[in-house]
Amino acid sequence: MVNLVLVLGDQLSENLSALAEADKATDIVVMAEVASEASYVPHHPKKIAFTFAAMRKFAAHLQECGWRVAYTRLDDPGNAGSLPAELLRRAEEFDTDLVLATEPGEWRLIAALHEIPLRLTLLEDTRFLCTHAQFEAWAEGRKALRMEYFYREIRRKTGLLMEGDKPVGGKWNFDHDNRKPASGDLFRKPPPKAQDDDILEHVLDLVESRFPDNFGTLRPFQFQTDRAGALCALDHFITHALPDFGAYQDAMLADDPYLYHAVIGLYLNAGLLEPLEVCERAAQAYGQGHAPLNSVEGFIRQIIGWREFIRGVYFLEGPDYTSRNALGHNRALPALYWGGDTQMNCLKHAVGQTRDLAYAHHIQRLMVTGNFALLAGVDPAHVHEWYLAVYADAYEWVEAPNVIGMSQFADGGVVGSKPYVSSGAYIDRMSDYCAGCHYRVKDKTGPRACPFNLLYWHFLIRHRERFAGNPRMAQMYRTFDRMDEARRTTVLAEADGFLRKLDAGKLV
Ligand SMILES: Cc1cc2nc3c(=O)[nH]c(=O)nc-3n(C[C@H](O)[C@H](O)[C@H](O)COP(=O)(O)OP(=O)(O)OC[C@H]3O[C@@H](n4cnc5c(N)ncnc54)[C@H](O)[C@@H]3O)c2cc1C
Ligand code: SF4
Repeated sequence: MVNLVLVLGDQLSENLSALAEADKATDIVVMAEVASEASYVPHHPKKIAFTFAAMRKFAAHLQECGWRVAYTRLDDPGNAGSLPAELLRRAEEFDTDLVLATEPGEWRLIAALHEIPLRLTLLEDTRFLCTHAQFEAWAEGRKALRMEYFYREIRRKTGLLMEGDKPVGGKWNFDHDNRKPASGDLFRKPPPKAQDDDILEHVLDLVESRFPDNFGTLRPFQFQTDRAGALCALDHFITHALPDFGAYQDAMLADDPYLYHAVIGLYLNAGLLEPLEVCERAAQAYGQGHAPLNSVEGFIRQIIGWREFIRGVYFLEGPDYTSRNALGHNRALPALYWGGDTQMNCLKHAVGQTRDLAYAHHIQRLMVTGNFALLAGVDPAHVHEWYLAVYADAYEWVEAPNVIGMSQFADGGVVGSKPYVSSGAYIDRMSDYCAGCHYRVKDKTGPRACPFNLLYWHFLIRHRERFAGNPRMAQMYRTFDRMDEARRTTVLAEADGFLRKLDAGKLV
């Protein structure tokens, strides 16, 4: 009997385990653009277009390689609307009940596949460097899961930047060299733009007509949509940005959305690039003297350290992870996240850039949009839905631990040992946002006080019982306690006033 070989929109890799296991001569590859996947959160139009265009091109590539592909377009009249329904339809068409699939990166889909009345073989996703079993074994018996120790294991396992069993340069981590703000007068080449082609044009028209109200600008469309394009984007990064990646990775500039970031997360997550090939290219650049160690180590750590660690946490913690809310936050997500007006220049830029590009770099996600939601006490489920919707690289296995864990501390400390919160001073140091802001970053109280300054103390006092004993936060509480009583009362009252305005939908 033939196998239906399911290939999902983020499984566009020739060496996918399901394809490796299948027989090209007899089996049928099933790929489907379905409404249920395209709309379970209001995805950014660019994210939907990227996925559909990349799927269509990958299907064409598989056909050129001799595979039989049953491909369903979103607007095909017979489209059954969901992946389970599409599989059932194809099972009837090809008279089989055998399905071969690589494990999806989302508990929701794994459960849905198991419920289909077909015989399913689910294979491990071998495109990662650490298996579920290896991560479980590493995590077993540890009081806390810390990325840094996990990362060292993967460095040893891959041999990346290693001299025997010692890290190149004598240290595992060069982050102390990596905290520089950037200046706006440097000339940086943005990543290469997508070439127009018929497949992409058709998909853009389709997305424009089917998702007219989704938050986000569709055109101009800038992403690559096939492996060759993704490799060009990688080349561009290695040549033009990697040397300065480390030093400026925490910097933010209003007029430069990318700085020295790679902008390859979406290609890695969709399967167009492989983590190891990307890291080997970076290590080679170091070996050839093209990029310094602090940049190359920092970049490789993001991929073999953070990316793999985050995935390990998602699968270790189980399907209830996305509903965690350790701090009991319940505020609705403010309208400014969906493009509503705001006077906070940092949020205006981070959200505006997200709307236009379906991209923001790590520090914008963590220390601007994430920081504000956490300080304001927004329900982490709402924050999770927003991040999952708006970024082209967002898939639940990677987005949820970053948002629920790292950014919102809603997992109670699984991903991070303390919440990532800061006052306006951090944003001022690392960006040029504050100079053009209605608020004054130096004002701690008063009508123009930076809202991050007010909310920072409000957050710490709200959660004093939980965090006062954390050695990494004790200093912040001592600082608050040293303020005179009147000042403490004013800060908290003004923060309350700000939150009331936010809840009332007033301009903040
Ligand atoms: C609140 C929040 C939400 C996030 N949501 C996502 C998401 O939905 N999808 C996603 O891929 N990343 C997410 N990240 C991680 C990181 O911000 C993005 O991977 C990165 O911004 C992608 O842009 P880039 O390719 O230019 O990355 P670069 O800064 O150039 O880094 C290179 C690569 O390292 C990897 N990487 C770096 N940091 C992380 C991390 N914390 N977790 C996993 N991989 C990492 C990515 O593959 C990235 O492409 C999130 C981070 C935060 C704080
Ligand atoms: S002053 Fe505050 S609100 Fe304004 S840009 Fe700076 S940090 Fe953001």
